Amino acid sequence: MKDKGLLVVISGPAGAGKGTIVTELVKNENVEVSISATTRSPRGQEKDGVEYHFLSREQFQEMIENDGFLEYAQYCGNCYGSPKKQAVEWMEQGKDVILEIEVQGCEKIKKQNPDCISIFIMPPSLEVLEHRLRKRATDSEESILNRLARAREEIRLAENYDYIVVNGPIEECVYDVKSILNAEKLKAKSFDINTILK
Ligand code: 5GP
Repeated sequence: MKDKGLLVVISGPAGAGKGTIVTELVKNENVEVSISATTRSPRGQEKDGVEYHFLSREQFQEMIENDGFLEYAQYCGNCYGSPKKQAVEWMEQGKDVILEIEVQGCEKIKKQNPDCISIFIMPPSLEVLEHRLRKRATDSEESILNRLARAREEIRLAENYDYIVVNGPIEECVYDVKSILNAEKLKAKSFDINTILK
């Protein structure tokens, strides 16, 4: 039987560069990214079913009631949740599943799945983070200030994660995250010695 895939939580302040890293990771056919559901409106060129499943508050609530989420949380006034069914199927097929979620969601996932791996993507500094958020130019001034305030709170919680990767040059950051996933797969507890001693 194929080993179950890893459940990998990637968090970090909005604008820290998580999206770019995840795009690189999913180039591997054994890695999938979970598409979250959210009640926030699409930003820029975002399309339903690609970046997010964009739901009304009522639809989101219905998914909660049907036990459709691995976790869900509020972030800057909107709801975000990781759909359960697809993620569980992928892991059973032996694929690693990435959840790109904020810190409260990570805490919930860790409680339910103690074997998950959590990685915090840290911006090199708050100044760099602000610059990246402004360059993105898809958020209002109010939203940017809101996200910067939230970033400070999230950074305080980074020490609860298994790994912290500083997002400087993107190739280095992607290399670090791939190294973490490789090392996790090589852990003794992940090895079935019966495949050798049969
Ligand atoms: P954004 O609105 O910038 O796309 O996302 C805001 C925050 O919500 C980001 O930190 C992102 O990682 C987080 N997020 C996205 N999807 C989920 C989810 O399914 N669950 C939780 N808890 N957070 C999410």
